[in-house]
Amino acid sequence: MTSSIEASAYLCGMMEKQVRVRFAPSPTGGLHLGGVRTALYNYLFAKKHGGTFILRIEDTDQGRYVEGAEQYIIDSLEWCGIGPDEGPHKGGSMGPYRQSERKERYLKHAEKLVADGVAYYAFDTTQELEEMREKFKSEQNPSPQYNASIRMEMKNSISLPPEEVEKLIIEGMPYVIRIKVPASTNVTLNDMIRGEVTFNTDQLDDKVLLKADGMPTYHLAVVVDDYEMKISHAFRGEEWLPSAPIHVLLWEYLGWKNDMPKWAHLPLILKPDGKGKLSKRDGDKLGFPVFAMDWKDPKTGETTKGFKKMGFLPEAFINMLALLGWNDGSNEEVADIVQLTERFTIERIHKGGAKFDFEKAKWFNGEWIKRSSDAYLLPLVKTILFEKGIQANDEKTLMLIGLVKERCQLLQDFHAQTSYFFESPKVIDSSSVKPKWDDKKNNFFTAWKKTIADLGEWTTEQIENSFKLDAGKHELKTGELQLPLRIMLVGGKFGPPVFEIAQNIGKEETIKRIEFGIKSINELS
Ligand code: GLU
Repeated sequence: MTSSIEASAYLCGMMEKQVRVRFAPSPTGGLHLGGVRTALYNYLFAKKHGGTFILRIEDTDQGRYVEGAEQYIIDSLEWCGIGPDEGPHKGGSMGPYRQSERKERYLKHAEKLVADGVAYYAFDTTQELEEMREKFKSEQNPSPQYNASIRMEMKNSISLPPEEVEKLIIEGMPYVIRIKVPASTNVTLNDMIRGEVTFNTDQLDDKVLLKADGMPTYHLAVVVDDYEMKISHAFRGEEWLPSAPIHVLLWEYLGWKNDMPKWAHLPLILKPDGKGKLSKRDGDKLGFPVFAMDWKDPKTGETTKGFKKMGFLPEAFINMLALLGWNDGSNEEVADIVQLTERFTIERIHKGGAKFDFEKAKWFNGEWIKRSSDAYLLPLVKTILFEKGIQANDEKTLMLIGLVKERCQLLQDFHAQTSYFFESPKVIDSSSVKPKWDDKKNNFFTAWKKTIADLGEWTTEQIENSFKLDAGKHELKTGELQLPLRIMLVGGKFGPPVFEIAQNIGKEETIKRIEFGIKSINELS
């Protein structure tokens, strides 16, 4: 039989809110890495607590809507391996998951707020709003808010007599619904990262909740949806913190305060020098991507490069992102999504902004390339080579991946590191050899290419042995001959062990490259 202690523990468990989190982007363009990190923290938290990760498309601002952006967001999350459990593409029991498809719900709540006296109709035209700003502008108050101190001067259902309001509505005068923010009141928010954050309402605006076209603004929609979708924890960027007191007031006014999600406002991702928020423009300027995947702007046709096309593995990308603003306190930096999920805790998210470091991002990628199996890398490397006009078969590509993956930080590096296995270098770095090039070396290479022409077996060992033997005959050390050989075979100072390269490209090709090498070095003045 179950003891009463067990039974009450069970009941408590039942009463605890099921973890439901949401990533709520607006479909306005490419997905910035800050956005992906928000999605990632949502995902990690949901998975850690056996919860549900929801994608909600916040498309109430039709003016900023961009064709294709929603699909792009979905594709980016899938590429990162953090696909949502519920969303517009997946369905779920609490949809629809696009705000534009939930219009009637918001209207109902906005009207209730007016009926309860905590919101009101406002009839002011754009021109009247501008006049108000001009009139009340002062040195202490450069951008006056529409709030308790000004509200009575404006054209709304608080300042006007009821008959006048009714008349305006009947006449079809356009209006918005604004929240009635109380004067001089402290609103406190308990943030899981920042602790208690208090705002004074005198700094706030009577934000528009419903626009003249009947569409909600972000403020109303986010609260209604978080409530209706039973969101337990809300992770979002720090830039939303100033809006939070409006949301807290709305949760209260709608009578849902006990259901309000726990908040976590995530630190900003900063420019590499730490001076300000990282923007797309910084990336363009400094030559690194800030989007997850390539984004083609349908209006301008302009494509902005993403981490995927830049040659990043999704595992490395999310590993790097997870550590941009959080760590588990250990020195172990490389972790897969399962390990990250196990280790993730909100308490260890930093309060301060995290500087983006592209070199570090590449380091993570190099680590992940090393850890990935050759078979996993095969299709990715084949694509890279194919784009450069090299059609490689699986067997050879697999062998090459094993040979060079330790040297690659980006997937593109596989081209530079392996192209000489497929085609002879068109130019070689002769100038690195020339200063120490003399007759002795010239004679050695001329002789050795004849020696290898007669080699019975073409194994790495045989090649190396004959190299040493001939070097001895010419009274030269192999150490001083390896760099010229490498440059002849590869074109530059890189690549795996040089005799392995010779073995791979074959005898004839090795001889051809040595001949070309001797000629290029001798011709260099
Ligand atoms: N729609 C907001 C955005 O585009 C989401 C803010 C929130 O999560 O509350 O980032």
